[in-house]
Amino acid sequence: MDRDRILLTPGPLTTTLRTKLAMLHDWGSWDADFIAVTASVRRRLLAIVHGQDSHVVVPLQGSGTFSVEAAVATVVPRDGHVLVLDNGAYCKRASKLTQMMGRRCSVLPFAEDEPVSAAALEAELINEPAITHVVLIHCETSAGVENPLAAVAEICRRHGRGLIVDAMSSFAALPIDARAIRFDALVAASGKCLEGVPGMGFVFVRKAVLEGCAGHSQSLAMDLFDQHAYLEATGQWRFTPPTHVVVALSEAIAQFEEEGGQPARLARYADNCATLIRGMTALGLKPFLAPAHQAPIIVTFHAPDHPAYDFKRFYAAAKARGFMLYPGKLTQVETFRVGCIGAIGRAEMQQAVDAVGAALREMGIATPPAAAA
Ligand SMILES: *Cc1c(COP(=O)(O)O)cnc(C)c1O
Repeated sequence: MDRDRILLTPGPLTTTLRTKLAMLHDWGSWDADFIAVTASVRRRLLAIVHGQDSHVVVPLQGSGTFSVEAAVATVVPRDGHVLVLDNGAYCKRASKLTQMMGRRCSVLPFAEDEPVSAAALEAELINEPAITHVVLIHCETSAGVENPLAAVAEICRRHGRGLIVDAMSSFAALPIDARAIRFDALVAASGKCLEGVPGMGFVFVRKAVLEGCAGHSQSLAMDLFDQHAYLEATGQWRFTPPTHVVVALSEAIAQFEEEGGQPARLARYADNCATLIRGMTALGLKPFLAPAHQAPIIVTFHAPDHPAYDFKRFYAAAKARGFMLYPGKLTQVETFRVGCIGAIGRAEMQQAVDAVGAALREMGIATPPAAAA
């Protein structure tokens, strides 16, 4: 095989050779050249959400969850009260980490195959004036649902509550404009739709909010207020930065800009998603979500209703053909997931569909004759 296996997962994901090659050098964290890379990455990240006037961006070492945890601990005062809008596993993770940070936390539950409801949020905020902050997962990666960011942000603004957005799997693909959508903090990471490698997250924090965040965090390493203050004062990360991840992200952002930015990325992912759903449907596989709720990020499919189906064997058979699938993450029904994101296009998605068809036939699961041709 002369190419790496294609990762059809929501991160880490397939990166370009150019991004991988950017990691072949060593950098001093204190050196002016690396300080310039960090500054450039921060400047270009802010431009993606049009947040230059209103927000700062604070990078943080670690996987995406580290940055969600840091955002909650930095933005929410210790006596704050967080409401998590819950329609999936990443929402449950957010409420767990909020509780572990010692903040009071309530959960407003929704079905995992539907977006959260801004109207239900409004009723809850009227009912519960003690709620200080709302946490929303923009794209709930466990089923692939797109949640109504603009409507939720508007309700939070109208009722004077803070909003923390986990936009991990949507940032740089779905439109997010900080001039039109009011949020206190919005979290994303290097190894998702920007197509960098995993290893750092970043949090956009509204300037007016950040000023009041000193001393909120009970963590030394994950205090975004201190991380920001140190970056502004020295240009350096407060503790050892993931240097190779940062330079790879810089190279990935350059390719994102060359491609045409967020609209172009969304168009490619939407085409990947349509190619995938069309091909899988022809194989007899059924998407879990109604089309109106499906974000073009990751698609959940019902597992074939066949006695010979076994995810581990299915996974191995697809992997042998060069494609890495992702297990389902739903509580009630047996599913598997296929990502639409990464440095891949229509050709790779069609090849993935062909690999899935061949994997099913190898397991003795018949596919419709037209698809097998
Ligand atoms: C990927 C992702 C995260 C972060 O997960 P990590 O495993 O910590 O990188 C958080 N929220 C959502 C919605 C995600 O898709």
